[in-house]
Amino acid sequence: MIESYFREHITRLVPYSTARDEYKGPPGTFLDANENPFGNGLNRYPDPRQTALRETIAQLKGVHSSKVFVSSGSDEVIDLLIRLFCEPRKDKVLILPPTYGMYAVAASVHNVDVEEIVLGADFQPDVERIIQSGAKILFLCSPNNPTGNLMSREYVETILQQFGGMVVVDEAYVDFSPEGSFLPLLESFPQLIVMQTFSKAFGLAAARVGMAFAAPAVIKALDTIKLPYNLGNPSAKAALAALSRREQVLRKVEKIIRYRDQLASQLIELHCVVRVYPSDANFLLVQFVDASAVFTHLLNHGIIVRDRSRQPLLEGCLRISIGTGKENKKLLNVLKMIG
Ligand code: PMP
Repeated sequence: MIESYFREHITRLVPYSTARDEYKGPPGTFLDANENPFGNGLNRYPDPRQTALRETIAQLKGVHSSKVFVSSGSDEVIDLLIRLFCEPRKDKVLILPPTYGMYAVAASVHNVDVEEIVLGADFQPDVERIIQSGAKILFLCSPNNPTGNLMSREYVETILQQFGGMVVVDEAYVDFSPEGSFLPLLESFPQLIVMQTFSKAFGLAAARVGMAFAAPAVIKALDTIKLPYNLGNPSAKAALAALSRREQVLRKVEKIIRYRDQLASQLIELHCVVRVYPSDANFLLVQFVDASAVFTHLLNHGIIVRDRSRQPLLEGCLRISIGTGKENKKLLNVLKMIG
């Protein structure tokens, strides 16, 4: 039973009941929620579950809607998962550096200890050590930020079979390599949680819309502990609109991939570049001869990239997001000044 992984008190929690939860009929005269009665399109509270968005996502992903959760960005899901599964000072979160920083930050906010098992030199997980860990949640990122690679299907399946806790696969960048998604494994592994986002491929970072896919019991528990109206209507609407113009989104994704591959082959020609790592995402991890000098030089020319050189395995590495054609050209020209 997946509920046995939850923090015990949460299994007994009575959620906040919103005014609208108590009425399920046709639009009536709503005098229950202390809203402003004068219509402006935003005067009513949203559907707490954002059902229409969940159902559209469910249909597109081929997953039952009872397995879909929507959130204010996937960062909210990270926070909620730690709240749901980890008892402070008792349970541990397992992360695999170098990886996305929010897993450790969210754990720290909740006073939950973080165990680290550094990825191998090939940026793949150390399966043997992971399955021996007693952590309550493992956060795996695929494609991984900042290394850009997908995690091996075989390794992830072994982890799912043998690791004793919940396995979260963060697929924030998976739309740039959709065949890499672990979503099809949801049927076989109730302890799997897959996170995705509208912030990257769908171009809605400012709207803050994330999604999680998991066993219905996990989704139900997330609904119990989330803030009543965690996702506003303007954001849900923007996500629905993006889903309705998927062709356009796909074309932009293809363009970003084309730019990424072009930029990778141009960067490797530069003397200041040691290595450009292969990427399944919308960024490149690049090793430079002198990363800190390059970082400062770029900054002096108004170009901001992410310095990852102090993370394990990433000596001399900067992470560069793929920009527009013009932005990528500017980056190259400024780097050419160094050589
Ligand atoms: N996961 C990863 C791996 C990310 O890189 C990011 C954002 N940079 C997020 C999650 C957070 O995404 P969101 O905007 O959906 O909160």
